[in-house]
Amino acid sequence: MTNLNNALVAQAGLRTWYANHARNLPWRLKPSLYGTWLSEILLQQTQVETGRPKWHLFMERFPTVGHLARASESEVLKAWEGLGYYRRATLLHKASRIIEAAGEFPMSYDAWLKLPGVGPYTAAAIASIGLGEAVAAVDGNVQRVVSRWAGIADPVDGKTGAQAIQTVADAWLDHDAPGNHNQAVMELGALVCKPRKPLCTLCPISTHCASANNPDMWGVLPAKKLKKKVQRWELTWHIARFENNIVAIKRPESGVWANMWAFPETPPPSHFLPLGALMKPITHLLTHRRIEATFQGWRAPSKAALEAYAKEVAGEVMTWNALKKRAMPRLVTKVFDALHGE
Ligand code: SF4
Repeated sequence: MTNLNNALVAQAGLRTWYANHARNLPWRLKPSLYGTWLSEILLQQTQVETGRPKWHLFMERFPTVGHLARASESEVLKAWEGLGYYRRATLLHKASRIIEAAGEFPMSYDAWLKLPGVGPYTAAAIASIGLGEAVAAVDGNVQRVVSRWAGIADPVDGKTGAQAIQTVADAWLDHDAPGNHNQAVMELGALVCKPRKPLCTLCPISTHCASANNPDMWGVLPAKKLKKKVQRWELTWHIARFENNIVAIKRPESGVWANMWAFPETPPPSHFLPLGALMKPITHLLTHRRIEATFQGWRAPSKAALEAYAKEVAGEVMTWNALKKRAMPRLVTKVFDALHGE
């Protein structure tokens, strides 16, 4: 572990480096609590380049927290489409309604932490960037930078490792500019202390870094606990249609793809004509799940038969175009693109 002096040297190096190298991200240009919060939720599990256009889209469609709160959940899910981890959108929407009802944004780290979808990292990022509160934000980038710099070998997703990382992050924190400081460490992780090949020769904190120019250390830090086994999920969706009408269902409120639109997993009755596999199986990856999806086609003998099947699976009869307007997980979008217009 390093001493306070080294921490202060690192803090100064970070400050200068960030002033010269910070990317011009849209939420940094005219910072607001709403824009910062939105960017932090969008960037959880999403790359900056993917999150950036979505941030613009959200700011256009829901320019204030009030607009977001007054939108329906399905409008928010639709706007989120393509980003995955849809629970983030549901919780963002719930939180917007709490803020709207309170009449103001939370004004401290502790208050942000009470909102749905806001964990310690997000609360620290928003409170430091948006409110100037001196709290160190620790995300995956920060874990990587700090564990390498201080040579922390305990898994960063375990209690001891997480505490060790937090201690160093707290010691580094620039109390005069906590928001810029937190962004500087994250930016350093994204641009310089990269996962595979960190650019140590360009690094402003290499002087006291335990891993500088040491590929053996880069390979093992940040250490992680053994990963959960990935589950295999064999999924068959039944795509039954009559003329341009199909049956789609809204998935349950909890679990994978909550509240999003997909196809039934229950096959239609035997008087439907089986059309066989409509397209090649698709392998689709979610966290801890590997989905092998197949798509069986069916032709209904009549619209009434299609409607009866929809009722049986608690679904709806709709056209492909109507489905396109609903919030769909990426796997359904792939099916849609492959089959629409057939
Ligand atoms: S010197 Fe290298 S390993 Fe250390 S923090 Fe900088 S980029 Fe990462």
